[in-house]
Amino acid sequence: MERTLAIIKPDGVARGITGEVVKRLEGKDFRIVAMKMIHLSKKQAEGFYAVHQGKPFFESLTDFMSSGPAVVMVLEGEDIIARYRQLMGATNYKEAAEGTIRKDFATDIEKNVVHGSDAPETAAFEMAYFFNHLEIVS
Ligand code: ATP
Ligand code: MG
Repeated sequence: MERTLAIIKPDGVARGITGEVVKRLEGKDFRIVAMKMIHLSKKQAEGFYAVHQGKPFFESLTDFMSSGPAVVMVLEGEDIIARYRQLMGATNYKEAAEGTIRKDFATDIEKNVVHGSDAPETAAFEMAYFFNHLEIVS
């Protein structure tokens, strides 16, 4: 069993597609074991995306991520990190495969609706950024 952090980014929440994303998760055996809504501050967004500090899109990305409420979740399942990345689709929605969340809903390389951890180490950091162990059901 593996866990990953998923986020419905502010564009997804603002556009009212939270339910659609959750439906795709539940329909495909991605067990949601923690979930809450949070409006990140600019500082909190910078901390979350610290690995991207110094990149040309960092300022804009952290402005976007702190622009409104987001829904953060912990997902659990076998090979969940890779399976959820597959369900999300490529970072650039123009390159995302048919049937992925980003292909179907993203409008921009930055405003791409969802986030997912990319490795066990980043998943551990990202889950702990939002949830303590009492907030994750077992
Ligand atoms: P995420 O980490 O949000 O799940 P990802 O792993 O597919 O996305 P990363 O390379 O980690 O992609 O980039 C983090 C986020 O930064 C992207 O999801 C996107 O919102 C934004 N981003 C990435 N590349 C660019 C870019 N070239 N221009 C603008 N925004 C970008
Ligand atoms: Mg990433």
